[in-house]
Amino acid sequence: MYSYKDLGFVNTAGMFQKAYGGGYAVPAFNFVTIEQYNAIMDAVIKKKSPIILLVSPNLHRQLGHEMLARVAQSGVDRIKNEGLDIPVALHLDHGMTYEQCVLAVENGFSSIMIDGSALPFEENIALTKKTAEYAHSRGVTVEAELGILSGAEEGGGGNLESLYTDPGMASEFIKRSGADSLAISIGTCHGMVKLKPDANGNLPDLRYDILEKIEKSNPGFPIVLHGASTIAPEFVQMINTYGGHIEQAVGIPEDQISKAAKMAVCKVNIATDGWICALAHTRRILAENPGAIDSRVFTLKIRPELEKLYLHKIDVMGSAGRA
Ligand SMILES: [Zn+2]
Repeated sequence: MYSYKDLGFVNTAGMFQKAYGGGYAVPAFNFVTIEQYNAIMDAVIKKKSPIILLVSPNLHRQLGHEMLARVAQSGVDRIKNEGLDIPVALHLDHGMTYEQCVLAVENGFSSIMIDGSALPFEENIALTKKTAEYAHSRGVTVEAELGILSGAEEGGGGNLESLYTDPGMASEFIKRSGADSLAISIGTCHGMVKLKPDANGNLPDLRYDILEKIEKSNPGFPIVLHGASTIAPEFVQMINTYGGHIEQAVGIPEDQISKAAKMAVCKVNIATDGWICALAHTRRILAENPGAIDSRVFTLKIRPELEKLYLHKIDVMGSAGRA
């Protein structure tokens, strides 16, 4: 058992305060492989951007809690070795139980999400409050969620029904739950289909009116967006060209993310874009190298492709040079 401070991570409090005042959002990227992790750190170091590393409970279990925080910590050393000072938070994404959050905190995470969004309102508050009391006693910051984001967190198909966050309930939740930040639903969505085009094929705007109301009632309180990938047609096409089969894919336009980042949104989660970029290039490289017998034929080549993606995402969120 050890604290995140021993590993050189920071919690998200200072990051969010700066992001709120500076009119940008801190990028929060999921990683599931070492190449993806390295690409994220390559981009962050080049752009001098603060970073929140997202880890799902599944990955925590899969890699093992002994390994996970140490892998993430190597990036902190890399930053120091380059003579830079870039804040890195290690964040549990969608912790579903109090116990998952405790395990993460005891193994070096500096920030956690307790996702009670599927529970009735009062139960969500109670779970968040209990988790926040524990986390705060160890200096760890807590994200909660109110309103249902449709779609599967781990990349399954989304459906188009989204239950928007009610601004009045959000204000009550913020006052009573002890959460340090809140993920809300304003039209973003997990998975590959995020928005439903109208009859003319135009995509609807995110519900900035909801965001504005919450911001007005809770000045300075950081808001989080999940399900904010762009789903670039380039990657979907590459996946389909090289043996994949993805029928429907609609992401959130980048200008909509940039606009939210200038408002109260201080953290934008990106998972799917990283996955489809890695998968598209892996499929392409394997198809182009049918005789390959060494997995490095693709692991070495997807890192720079992912780096390009994350460099661009940092620009969309406005966090370059903000470390
Ligand atoms: Zn999420």
